Amino acid sequence: MNIIVTGGAGFIGSAVIRHIIKNADHSVLNIDKLTYAGNLSSLKEVEGSDRYSFAQADICDKPAVQELFSSFKPDAVMHLAAESHVDRSIDGPADFIETNIIGTYNLLDISKKYFEQLQPDAKSRFRFHHISTDEVYGSLGREGFFKEETSYDPRSPYSASKASSDHLVKAWHHTYQLPIVLTNCSNNYGPYQFPEKLIPLIILNALEGKPLPVYGKGDNIRDWLYVEDHAEALAKVLLEGRPGESYNIGGHNEKTNLEVVQTICDLIDEIRPADKPRRELIKFVKDRPGHDKRYAIDAGKIQSELGWQPKESFETGIRKTIQWYIDNQWWWQPIRDSKYAGERLGE
Ligand code: NAD
Repeated sequence: MNIIVTGGAGFIGSAVIRHIIKNADHSVLNIDKLTYAGNLSSLKEVEGSDRYSFAQADICDKPAVQELFSSFKPDAVMHLAAESHVDRSIDGPADFIETNIIGTYNLLDISKKYFEQLQPDAKSRFRFHHISTDEVYGSLGREGFFKEETSYDPRSPYSASKASSDHLVKAWHHTYQLPIVLTNCSNNYGPYQFPEKLIPLIILNALEGKPLPVYGKGDNIRDWLYVEDHAEALAKVLLEGRPGESYNIGGHNEKTNLEVVQTICDLIDEIRPADKPRRELIKFVKDRPGHDKRYAIDAGKIQSELGWQPKESFETGIRKTIQWYIDNQWWWQPIRDSKYAGERLGE
């Protein structure tokens, strides 16, 4: 298969490309604008493969993307390009509206026209896979889980823009019969995550003996999924998911932010002992406005229909992640030194 991956220079997109090139014989065209979050060095492992190619393009630039569809002739599109950081969406929502909503509309429109001129056998293979978030469902109380049928109730400019794009994707299926699949996933962590996000920020600050900022009382709950488990789930949904369906993906790892930070502190103390326990570096800071209390995923549908479940527990995945950041300073140091390194704590 020829697969277009948008946003392939980002955290999850690069994991998806590494997964596909290593584990299958598909060809991948990575379309990425290379915003502050895009980093081609995350794709070093696949750069030499003749099944991997890259085009720098903005998904909002219709003629450029149309041209790439005509030359690459995709059998499938995995759409991950997005503005993805909640805190940035609060400070400046415009890019989120532009890329996440208008950009998704452009891709749908191009995909629809491209799909309509395919031969019947190519039509039956074609998929448009939209990668989305559990944040579209809003916030949970102490009980309950997000299911595929849960009503949308987005609270931040980021989640509202992703909810809009999900609705467009579903509409293109119902109205134009575009064979879409949609996935809504919980919080990811793992190698190559931009060091403004909670887990890499805490790992790197703890290693450097810097303060470890935690929003509010640290009691917001997230369900954490190791990024390579997510990449495997996405490949499965693309190939085996039923057109028109959405699948929730989660890690069965509900943790408060404080538990996450404390676990990282204790593991780093074990791997790199210091004079004082790292927990003493924890500093509680003013909460994010509209901070959703709890996210938790019911991943029963993808498990029963497609036989997917995560391989990593939080304990094994976080250990691997810490070791990866210790071993790969070449990757993160230039980002830490750049103007984009801020004390943003988004989960
Ligand atoms: P990321 O910010 O690390 O990467 C996004 C990529 O998209 C970057 O490479 C960036 O250069 C590219 N991009 C941004 N705007 C673009 C544009 N206009 N045209 C082309 N490329 C553009 O994001 P991520 O964490 O890898 O998330 C990928 C997708 O998965 C997003 O759609 C996000 O909503 C979704 N998601 C993320 C998580 C998570 O925990 N990170 C969880 C669930 C779903």
